Amino acid sequence: MSAITHMTVFLAELKVNTPRRHGVGSIEGGIDNVFVKITDEDGRTGWGEASPWPVFTGTAEAAAGALDKHFRPFVVGSKASDHARILAKANKAVARSPEAKAALEMALLDLYGKQTELSVAELLGGRVRDEIPLSISIADPDFGRDRELAQRATSDGIGIFKIKTGFDSHSFDLMRLESLRAKFPDVDIRVDYNQGLDPTGAVSKLRDIASFKPTFIEQPVPADNWRAMTALTAAIDTPIMADESVFNAVDAFRAAEARIADLFSVKIMKSGGMKAGQEVSAVAKAAGIACYGGDMFESGLAHLAGTHMIAATENISLGCEFYQARYYLTEDILKEPFSCEGGMVQVPTKSGLGGDVDENRLRAMASVIQE
Ligand SMILES: [Mg+2]
Repeated sequence: MSAITHMTVFLAELKVNTPRRHGVGSIEGGIDNVFVKITDEDGRTGWGEASPWPVFTGTAEAAAGALDKHFRPFVVGSKASDHARILAKANKAVARSPEAKAALEMALLDLYGKQTELSVAELLGGRVRDEIPLSISIADPDFGRDRELAQRATSDGIGIFKIKTGFDSHSFDLMRLESLRAKFPDVDIRVDYNQGLDPTGAVSKLRDIASFKPTFIEQPVPADNWRAMTALTAAIDTPIMADESVFNAVDAFRAAEARIADLFSVKIMKSGGMKAGQEVSAVAKAAGIACYGGDMFESGLAHLAGTHMIAATENISLGCEFYQARYYLTEDILKEPFSCEGGMVQVPTKSGLGGDVDENRLRAMASVIQE
């Protein structure tokens, strides 16, 4: 296997088409993401992405610094087949920074897959599914625009909406639920507070929400208030999902013991990669907790990594929310659009991640390039 000779880190702003509001913070204009490209002696490349959200996981500057300064010395000169050892070094070199580790693993497995002519799903143990139901998020402060998005999504075959609640009034949340339930009676509706609910009075508000029969209610209260999460999980019949409260397998173990939720959201940007996400799912599975394929504000590249992880992980069974590349970014960095058909994300069968980055487009968006 040929060694890695070059590593390039890009910090780029990806423009988005509308503002978004969440219990934990807003997105306006664009998102700062980090991309990493590794090249081997034969000229093959592997690509990775870190998609941090400062109010949730960390900053793009920290992810770029981890990759460029702290990981580069042991990545260049090594072989992608040594991906597990390289990730172990990354975990020792930098505390936390899960997005940077996710980007590094993505690039290594993309390259290793191309070298071995296997898809990343095969490298992760083999696929248990070939397509994944896609959810879009309803999070625009202008509900009129979201109704148009919902219409467009359902015409494309999408059958899942996740309504972001808790950033405005309770009556605004109920109005949107009522409106979408009436207009789209067959759609699977989920609700995500992103920590936006005050634990005092949360039970009665969630009972109002539960009357619209959502499939689950995600992260109603602040991430570190596990007592409130446990109390709500016991009080409400609708399944409660933990997102911000559970990043990695250690969190998952403790959260399962404390029964803070019925379901977990797995994100490679929280766990620090696809294999670490599979570990979260394995702990959850042992506790009888099903998982959902969440994401951050990602391009199609990170979506591909999440897609391969879910394809290879039976217990991540509640669909995915990889809608940003198609429905939210004004321009993606993949040459071919991220693949969805009839509301289902298609798991690529090509080697590696199965998507090509348009490097010229990325360079035009990048504000910092570290060669
Ligand atoms: Mg969430």
